[in-house]
Amino acid sequence: MTAEDNAALGRIRWERRWLLAWAISAAPALWAAWRTPHRGLAIAAVGLIWTAGVALSLARLLFAHCPRCGRLFHSADAMPSVAKIFAPRCGQCGLRLKPERIIYPSLE
Ligand SMILES: [Zn+2]
Repeated sequence: MTAEDNAALGRIRWERRWLLAWAISAAPALWAAWRTPHRGLAIAAVGLIWTAGVALSLARLLFAHCPRCGRLFHSADAMPSVAKIFAPRCGQCGLRLKPERIIYPSLE
């Protein structure tokens, strides 16, 4: 595995963290918007921003390409799959997202 492959896998892991961050931070943001005097407008703004953030993060993650096979990482066929969004391996070639531990590098 090359340094470019590791960088591409790192970008996929980074996109996953962004998606989780958007999802987890929605509840506190909505709570903060609820506490404002203009709660209807604030909740609408938070909902719009968070929906756009989740959609953008999800799209970037769905269309991420595998560094080894060049096809969609989260897909078993040509179509991106939301069901495989947190799969630990590439749906096409089986490349692991997290690098495996190498205890003895000289044996690789
Ligand atoms: Zn692959």
